[in-house]
Amino acid sequence: MEWNIRKLRALVGEEESQAISAIPISLAGQGDFLVWHYTKLGIYEVHSDYQLALEDHPFRGSSGASSLTQPPKHFWKLIWALPVPPKIRNFWWRVCCNKLATKDNLYRRRCATSPSCPICGAITETIEHLLFHCNRTRAVWFGSDLGFLSSIGVTSSARAWTVSLFENCTNDKERKDRVDKATVVGWFILKARNDWVFNHSPIEPAQVVRQAASLWREVYFHSVQEEVSPSTSTQSIQSHPS
Ligand SMILES: [Zn+2]
Repeated sequence: MEWNIRKLRALVGEEESQAISAIPISLAGQGDFLVWHYTKLGIYEVHSDYQLALEDHPFRGSSGASSLTQPPKHFWKLIWALPVPPKIRNFWWRVCCNKLATKDNLYRRRCATSPSCPICGAITETIEHLLFHCNRTRAVWFGSDLGFLSSIGVTSSARAWTVSLFENCTNDKERKDRVDKATVVGWFILKARNDWVFNHSPIEPAQVVRQAASLWREVYFHSVQEEVSPSTSTQSIQSHPS
């Protein structure tokens, strides 16, 4: 028995696929079970969860800005309904939950020796820094046709930024051109950052822009052929009170 790499790559990124496929599959055919990896025995304990919650509290860490605002009720539904490849939906959900393996998040979980940005050396590599503020990644946004979004350089919460992006779209065409496209551009920014960190490949913003544009064309032509159901339309985030 072995991992289905093609399925893994469709659901998560290349690095995650490699990490998952490196996990040996039980020869005994034992079924999977949930493990709470914050305790030695893998068994859930309330005090370890409490400790974790304290560490993640927005007013304790240098990051956590993403937790400061509660999104509208239907926000998560809209994220999971985005007509982009599953791995990109999954990625943007993790962006909005502050669950990406940035240096800051790894450092706060004691999995990195420093929280600083591996690209520009900024003190803290938060999700917002990685995606919106780092010099190399800002160049990608401005090279793409999303450069008009002036909030890119100053956003303090990726989640709030996404909520406002949804809310500022008046129809599904605008949502496609902004929200859907932003998730694709963000995905390639993360990919370029990971290539830099793990393979020492230099980040070429123009190349990242071309890669994002190429995938975006595929996504766009695919999505315009499908009807967007009313429950996933842009209006739903605006018409339901939170
Ligand atoms: Zn940086």
